Amino acid sequence: AIAVEKLSKRFGKKQALAGVDLTISEGEMVALIGASGSGKSTLMRHICGLERGDAGSIVRILGEVQQQDGKFGPKMRDLRGKTGVIFQQFNLVARLPVITNVLCGILGHISPWRGTFGIFTRAEKRAAIESLARVGIGEVAWQRASTLSGGQQQRAAIARTLLQRSKILLADEPIASLDPASARRVMDVLADINRTDKLTVLVSLHQVEYARVYCPRTIALRDGKVVYDGPSDALSDDFLTELYGSASEELV
Ligand code: ATP
Ligand code: MG
Repeated sequence: AIAVEKLSKRFGKKQALAGVDLTISEGEMVALIGASGSGKSTLMRHICGLERGDAGSIVRILGEVQQQDGKFGPKMRDLRGKTGVIFQQFNLVARLPVITNVLCGILGHISPWRGTFGIFTRAEKRAAIESLARVGIGEVAWQRASTLSGGQQQRAAIARTLLQRSKILLADEPIASLDPASARRVMDVLADINRTDKLTVLVSLHQVEYARVYCPRTIALRDGKVVYDGPSDALSDDFLTELYGSASEELV
């Protein structure tokens, strides 16, 4: 579903990605780990088409060239619609009802005229409520997004990608600001849609324990390079200490 080849990205002097190669098959659920600044978000931004890599970089999504040598392919728009993205926070428009936030996911798929005035059909509204129910928060559909807890907001963001019928879900630290119980609920939802809807999920995580529990495979980045790609339960403590070691000392 995702194929990244020799992906490099330099921001001024900073080499954010340095020749990343990875392939993720349809239906996989993969964790992305690495210290702060290792390039996790930058990699995700390339995979969802928000950023273009330097010369030599190729990203293929669902078998189509999404970008090559810093240029987007002709299928770019189409592929963006099939790739849902969830960030650590600020996923919802706070003052709008939850259901409107979810419906926003299909704005790109309906006519701009209809979308601009927020005229969604009854069937679309029903589908939005169904996807909210699917992630366990159907009852808050008509509340303002700002009244939801952090975990509920993340689940609403997942509901939006469900309505959008994404094939790939990129979640950049979706549980970083959540308490353990809410974090588990969000991860449970991701695992459920991965299994049931065969959605390919790439989720970046700070806490490796969640990778071990939820993701069969983990990819680790250090300084913009892949330094581990394999089974999550084979990650050794020594490797993890080394992966996070120097960076966490920097933060102190
Ligand atoms: P974190 O765990 O803190 O979210 P990360 O692994 O997501 O970190 P990135 O945000 O991908 O790391 O950043 C990788 C490197 O690229 C960092 O050094 C960052 O400062 C740099 N970088 C990312 N985006 C830009 C940009 N738009 N302009 C300049 N530098 C950038
Ligand atoms: Mg990041």
